[in-house]
Amino acid sequence: LYKLEDKYPNLIREDSPTKKIGGEVLDKFEKVVHDKPMMSLSDVFNEDEIILFDSRIRKEGISPQYVCELKIDGLSVSLKYEKGIFKSAATRGDGVVGEDITNNVRTINTVPLKINRKIDIEVRGEIFMSKKTLEKLNEERKENNEPLFKNCRNAAAGSIRQLDSSIAKKRNLEVFIYHLPNPEDYGIKTHLDALKFMEDLGFRTNKNNNLLVNSVDDVLKYIEDKGKIREELPYDIDGVVIKLNNLSDQAKMGNTIRYPKWATAYKFPPEISYTKLLDIKFTVGRTGQVTPNAILEPVLVMGSTISKTTLHNEDFVISKDIRIGDIVGIKKAGDVIPEVVTVLKERRKEVLMPFEMIKTCPICGSLLIKKDDESAYYCVNDNCDRKQIESLIHFASRDAMNISGFGDRIIEDFYNFGYIKGILDFYHLEKYKEELKELEGFGEKSIDNLLMEIENSKNNSLERLLFGIGIRYVGKKTAKILARTYKNIDNIINATYDELEGISDIGEKIASSVYEYFHKEENINLINYLKELKVNMNYLGEEIDNELIKDKTFVITGTLSSPRDEIRNIIETNGGKVSGSVSKKTDFVIVGENPGSKYANALKLGIKILKEDELKNMLN
Ligand code: ZN
Repeated sequence: LYKLEDKYPNLIREDSPTKKIGGEVLDKFEKVVHDKPMMSLSDVFNEDEIILFDSRIRKEGISPQYVCELKIDGLSVSLKYEKGIFKSAATRGDGVVGEDITNNVRTINTVPLKINRKIDIEVRGEIFMSKKTLEKLNEERKENNEPLFKNCRNAAAGSIRQLDSSIAKKRNLEVFIYHLPNPEDYGIKTHLDALKFMEDLGFRTNKNNNLLVNSVDDVLKYIEDKGKIREELPYDIDGVVIKLNNLSDQAKMGNTIRYPKWATAYKFPPEISYTKLLDIKFTVGRTGQVTPNAILEPVLVMGSTISKTTLHNEDFVISKDIRIGDIVGIKKAGDVIPEVVTVLKERRKEVLMPFEMIKTCPICGSLLIKKDDESAYYCVNDNCDRKQIESLIHFASRDAMNISGFGDRIIEDFYNFGYIKGILDFYHLEKYKEELKELEGFGEKSIDNLLMEIENSKNNSLERLLFGIGIRYVGKKTAKILARTYKNIDNIINATYDELEGISDIGEKIASSVYEYFHKEENINLINYLKELKVNMNYLGEEIDNELIKDKTFVITGTLSSPRDEIRNIIETNGGKVSGSVSKKTDFVIVGENPGSKYANALKLGIKILKEDELKNMLN
């Protein structure tokens, strides 16, 4: 259709699908008609196409100067200011109509609420999430049993589409501004000057990566250079944007109905690596979940050698029809976890056996059970060695009882040698001290250290134990909520299902799992033995009932004399809450040096502002 329309422009219909440029407009946000369409760029994929792009420009008698920029993998945004004050923001949508995302964009730290001149202006740029933020977000989501974001772009798009702007705010989005739609209004002659102009107004541009070049060779060099440092950049890029610098040259080239002829986007090749699937091996986790894993001929995927990756579950393998002996395409999902994304079925030279899920546990041989609502199979034998070992590793892990010195390997060895068969055995290890000293790789000192670490773990606050004993669905966060709410283990044991379910952030699934756990005799026995061993069963967070702070919501902005985590802790132990963004529900905003937009928001909403010493007075 694109080609036909180019050939017969008089036949283009008003409602032609080619007039839609990008994504879809969702219904939940107000629609906004852009003053000027937000065009997307034409894509080029190789050197030849870039040279062709350059020659089309030269054919018009232009000696081009190009500005090369990184193509950030996020989503485009239009920002509007009136008299220098941030007014609204919209997504590109279909290029003509976008969505009003003002509330969410307002929360982004790098979007100024006020610029340096009292002018009406629209600027455009890219909203994105840094790799580090994505990593942290996915860690949290994993802990809460929520689906992980595949990459930075999905995470940024998902965050900007939150109806609750406080969630969007927590996602730590960022922005780079790269386009001024009406440069003529400000007497600007080049794209580079437009960038400089916007920078001077207070907008964040990606200036360290923008480069003015005079030849197509330099464009190619830029692409090569940036391709090399792609991995090291703090954000995802999917290519390079090449624009004519001179605005009069841009005007001379003009636009097609879909994209400007004075710019193009070079897209990096997709980072899929192909290799042979040698075998599928099954592993058993702490909960008994059995996972198929791909054993691969070692292959380089975006800089690291991969020889093994998860195949998730039976459904995943069957839906992709992955078979041992296949050539499979591997990609790093979220740029971290390698994943099989494709199977080259046409490369099958011989008959390969379709995948079949195993029926029995590869470790203990007991029959696997598939739970109704899940696609995973479980080994339900409580005595399965692998489940036991994984539970012990979990118990000692850093987020649980934090017994350092216990690598996974040591725990497995101690289990196999019979020193540690269950959680209680950690606390009886002392009696094997002399034997342990004789083990290869251990000396008197390391055994002493290990025993001391074990002894110290008895003093942990309750939430570590709650997490460590591995109650289903009780992650780190839930363990903390339970500990903080009930103060000691007996209160949790005695809690009714309704009480548990009534706690905010604890749903039916968690409540019934906790309730069931503490109504099994073997678990109560375990707790009682641990008590006898003097393992602490109390929540150790300080508790001071401070009426000024209790049930109040605080927001912190700017630099304070103590770390934010510390201040958050103090507020929380006094019964207050700390939120990431200012809303009508905020009671106090604590303001330090160089406060951000939250301070401005607080003033606007008339929320009480506290200096750090005023908070301290409240605490006293
Ligand atoms: Zn088993």
